[in-house]
Amino acid sequence: MKINRNYLDLKESYLFSDIAKKTAAYKAANPDADIIKLGIGDVTLPLCKAVTDAFHAAVSEMGEKETFRGYGPEQGYGFLRDAIRDYYKSEDGVELDSDEIFVSDGAKSDLGNILDILSKDNTVLVPDPVYPVYVDTNVMDGRKINYIAGNAENGFLPLPDDSLEADVIYICSPNNPTGAAYDHAGLRKWVDYALGRGALILFDAAYESFITSKELVRSIYEIEGARKCAIEFCSFSKIAGFTGTRCGWTIVPAELEFDGVQLKKLWLRRQTTKFNGVSYPVQKAAAAVFTPEGLSQIRENLDYYKQNAKTITDALDKLGIWYTGGVNSPYIWLRCPNNMGSWEFFDLLLTKANVVGTPGAGFGAMGEGFFRLTAFGDHDRTREAADRIVKLLK
Ligand code: PLP
Repeated sequence: MKINRNYLDLKESYLFSDIAKKTAAYKAANPDADIIKLGIGDVTLPLCKAVTDAFHAAVSEMGEKETFRGYGPEQGYGFLRDAIRDYYKSEDGVELDSDEIFVSDGAKSDLGNILDILSKDNTVLVPDPVYPVYVDTNVMDGRKINYIAGNAENGFLPLPDDSLEADVIYICSPNNPTGAAYDHAGLRKWVDYALGRGALILFDAAYESFITSKELVRSIYEIEGARKCAIEFCSFSKIAGFTGTRCGWTIVPAELEFDGVQLKKLWLRRQTTKFNGVSYPVQKAAAAVFTPEGLSQIRENLDYYKQNAKTITDALDKLGIWYTGGVNSPYIWLRCPNNMGSWEFFDLLLTKANVVGTPGAGFGAMGEGFFRLTAFGDHDRTREAADRIVKLLK
């Protein structure tokens, strides 16, 4: 028996454990310190009432002989796929067929699982800084990875050029960690590049619900031609607080064909073989997100987080600090003041303002000198943190 030795090539990520260790050590030495955490990438507001009502009702159905359900369709129940289809139509004007939508237990799983249907010979292109899942899942398969640099000059929205070698391209917009989001012209360039090379775009839209600006793109299928070159991954995690409930979806358009084979067919085969679907109550809870009550309730939560983002960006504006994100994203990505390194700034904020954020260097080499703050906290605590940052840096 041989193991998959590619796993030995994975780099250990110490980012969040190092942050936790440093924070705990500071707290132990300064027990009275009132530490505010703005590093968290998880939501904090509970599921909305429309969702919990549907969840409870579905659990009750499962407890009655007449309404009990066993295995569901691997691709997801029709009621949820139709609700997702209608959401795309009403929010983005994007027409999808319900059988192009695959319900998942979250975007992270499918971002990894999709690689099952792609050859290990492909070269993948990932942006730096990057959500680490794109890198690690490809290292596990031994695929060659090329990087494209995000930086202050391109606003952390790198664009393709013909010298780039890529068969598979990862795009996350709005981006984690940078909060930057592509407009139509930017994504048009990526779609043209992919179509020109016969490459596949894996588009991570996990934060699309934070977009309010019409110039920005929520779904890659808003770009003509994307149905021939892109798979889109999305999630109920950030739109509706499902990080602990687990539900998402993946869109594989019918036109997407490589080597004369429909990817939708391959993906369906993969899912029916290796996946038995998401639980009925979770799918009912997810479908409730797209009812009029659900949409209005989740928008209140999104507005709550957006106010936090504004509190943080107002403070940075006051200080004249350069940043991306924060407007159409829960993440604010700032340049560390006075040319400080990411960890140097982390230490300064921790010890002088008792505020914890995430050093940009933890997301890739291009993140050095940058820092991530998030809007998922509490209003009063976020305001307090912003005030402390202004006091410290003004
Ligand atoms: N994609 C990005 C860019 C993320 O930041 C996250 C979670 O933080 C995910 C995907 C995972 O989403 P899910 O909770 O649906 O697995």
